[in-house]
Amino acid sequence: MSEFVASFMAKLKEKNPAEPEFHQAVQEVVESLELVLERHPEYRAAKLLERIVEPERVIMFRVPWMDDRGEINVNRGFRVEMNSAIGPYKGGLRFHPTVTLGMLKFLAFEQVFKNSLTTLPMGGGKGGSDFDPKGKSDNEVMNFCQSFMTELFRHIGPNTDVPAGDIGVGGREIGFLFGQYKRLRNEFTGVLTGKGLSWGGSLIQPEATGYGAVYFAAEMLATRNETLTGKTCLVSGSGTVAQYTTEKINQLGGKVVTLSDSGGYIYDPEGINDEKLAWVMNLKNVRRGRIREYPEKFTGATYTPTDPNLDYNPLWDHKADCAFPSATQNEINSRDADNLLRNGVYVVSEGANMPTMPDGVEKFIDAGILYGPGKAASAGGVAVSGLEMSQNSLRLSWSREEMDERLKGIMHSIHKACYEAAEKYGTPGNYVNGANIAGFIKVANTMMDLGLV
Ligand code: NDP
Repeated sequence: MSEFVASFMAKLKEKNPAEPEFHQAVQEVVESLELVLERHPEYRAAKLLERIVEPERVIMFRVPWMDDRGEINVNRGFRVEMNSAIGPYKGGLRFHPTVTLGMLKFLAFEQVFKNSLTTLPMGGGKGGSDFDPKGKSDNEVMNFCQSFMTELFRHIGPNTDVPAGDIGVGGREIGFLFGQYKRLRNEFTGVLTGKGLSWGGSLIQPEATGYGAVYFAAEMLATRNETLTGKTCLVSGSGTVAQYTTEKINQLGGKVVTLSDSGGYIYDPEGINDEKLAWVMNLKNVRRGRIREYPEKFTGATYTPTDPNLDYNPLWDHKADCAFPSATQNEINSRDADNLLRNGVYVVSEGANMPTMPDGVEKFIDAGILYGPGKAASAGGVAVSGLEMSQNSLRLSWSREEMDERLKGIMHSIHKACYEAAEKYGTPGNYVNGANIAGFIKVANTMMDLGLV
């Protein structure tokens, strides 16, 4: 680590203690940006890095709600409004028991760069709660969402801050949140994205992150004159991103052999075809069941429960060509990266945010594989959210084909921007540097234009 990065990180850690994911995300970006600061001393003089790691605003609030037994529960709600230089704050809401302020700061920070890469005018934010929707009834989820929005509504708006879904927040939750916002404000407006089609939603929105991660992989493969046809793929998770990653891989002629949830993973050497995927979607989105049921339905597949004593994830230890981590942060450690490389994986396209730990990233880059970091590869979701905002403003709905084409076009542009920035700054093929630099420059130049605010 250079002296500059070490001293910057020491100050950041002192000021933001006990926020390891935030430290990790900032360090990766600062390491990439050193190359930029050398060429742009004006950014350093304007203290752009110091300003960009400080959220413009953080909102933290109590969320009291009543469960079906009549008991009172208290959760904590957050919204981190990180940077609005290039547009209204935009980023998802996460409902998961592990949610903390530090985790949301990491996600909001990543979102600033990701949103900048999409070419659309969106700033970065992220929010959520330590509420766990797992095992809760629809009524309990609604009670929670209504209480959460009863505070959040005063901080957001279609020109201020437009939240969306993330882990634990899908169509059901967005519906309850939107309903309560509409009731409190007495206005029907595009304040959330990921809405249902009959109330302002966009086609392709649920699919967008997964489809986008696959398009990004296809773009990386195209630089070697290859395609996804015939490629064996490992996918983790079985939520929104994992499901539509699998669907698009199938459409492009690849074969997905794994899916997971926090309880364990399944391996199906025959491939999770469209029929099996439809069953998984019903299991996860309607019955809200566990992935361990899969081998009871489809013979030839195996289920391996999660073993907390292992220092690696066996899901990443199968022969394959491509990996699409689509569950959560830090799900690929250094040993997993070794296993992936040993098993022949040479394309990693991240649908999740920061799923690979820094040692693992270093191994992928050293090995010279096609490694697309989440900041770029998972930007399809927010890109289509941006298009949902445009459709809401125009009061129009674009067709499925039109949306898919626009998404593909945006993923092409993001890939191009990352590829060219990596080359321009002397690290060809390094999409981590490319994404950080290309994402930063647009925000940095705007911050310079807007003065000291
Ligand atoms: P979902 O809640 O729909 O699915 C998450 C999946 O990952 C579930 O299968 C879940 O299993 C598993 N998972 C979550 N946390 C853990 C954990 N700590 N350990 C093991 N497994 C876990 O979320 P999404 O599909 O929406 O999000 C997945 C990833 O993609 C996240 O990193 C998110 O930030 C990122 N992303 C999502 C976008 C979106 O628009 N939805 C946009 C861009 C990025 P279980 O049910 O057992 O918890």
